[in-house]
Amino acid sequence: MARIAFIGLGNMGGGMAANLAKAGHDVRAFDLSADALARAKDAGCLPADSAAIACAEAEAVITMLPAGSHVEAVYTTDVFAAAPPSAILIDCSTIDVETARRVAEAAAVKGLTMVDAPVSGGIAAANAGTLTFMAGGSEEAFRRAEPFLADMGKTVIHAGPVGAGQAAKICNNMLLGATMVATGEAFVLAQRLGLDLQTFYDIASVSSGQSWSMTSYCPVPGVGPETPADRDWQGGFAAALQLKDLRLAMQAAASVSADTPMGARAAEMYQRFVDEGGAATDFSGIIKMLGLAVPP
Ligand code: NAD
Repeated sequence: MARIAFIGLGNMGGGMAANLAKAGHDVRAFDLSADALARAKDAGCLPADSAAIACAEAEAVITMLPAGSHVEAVYTTDVFAAAPPSAILIDCSTIDVETARRVAEAAAVKGLTMVDAPVSGGIAAANAGTLTFMAGGSEEAFRRAEPFLADMGKTVIHAGPVGAGQAAKICNNMLLGATMVATGEAFVLAQRLGLDLQTFYDIASVSSGQSWSMTSYCPVPGVGPETPADRDWQGGFAAALQLKDLRLAMQAAASVSADTPMGARAAEMYQRFVDEGGAATDFSGIIKMLGLAVPP
């Protein structure tokens, strides 16, 4: 079993660090939040007084931070100076491709090996250890990171060189945002045309309109499998995080002159939903903004 530094013990990182401890690793945990540190201690991790202290003698450093600026700051300020050259550095946060590549290149200059390994799956999957990881890095870096990722998830895929994990993540989540808006508007149109929504689901879920947003995460309460829609669109994947991922996708699209009109429209729609107070609502709740009539 390995000594692992885990930095960023929030909604996602807390469960991930706990699963590494459960797998028998010696997890040295750090977060700016004392509450998060206390929860990690209860879950079997050893709280560290700083990121640098957590990194000392680590075989792997894993980070799960809010955004690119946090990742760049933590690595350049603490991790590069404190982690042994033999450590594998794994950033699981969702950040922009450019920052992921820049930080990995800076790691390489210091003689350190880094992988970007963002996740698909929310807080429940982080707690249950069933996340999907999409990793960017060299073959050798991936081979070294894979066993740690496997202790936190059920699927680990090598997406390509450094930055490829983030690229896969934002392309996937751009598609997710666009299909959720499209699925929501199809249900609202069906409702206005007098169709029974369960009947429309029974047809569309086995027809060419089918998607994950329809069959695994149906935005209509009482239709399809149990989803956040059945809990007044609470829990699940917050609209603010969907908006964050759509913004990252738009930033990446602009950097390579890719034309992404559906993604751009989905980003506008989620921006409006968040502006109107939907930030903490599950992202499928955008169907309310689209005009779904819900019986009282
Ligand atoms: P979070 O805000 O709950 O957790 C982030 C943690 O990082 C916080 O506890 C914060 O105190 C800590 N932190 C910030 N700066 C720090 C620093 N300098 N040193 C140490 N700790 C620091 O966020 P989250 O929901 O756990 O998400 C983390 C990442 O995972 C994000 O990039 C997010 O986009 C991505 N993600 C989230 C979900 C989800 O459903 N929540 C799903 C997939 C991916």
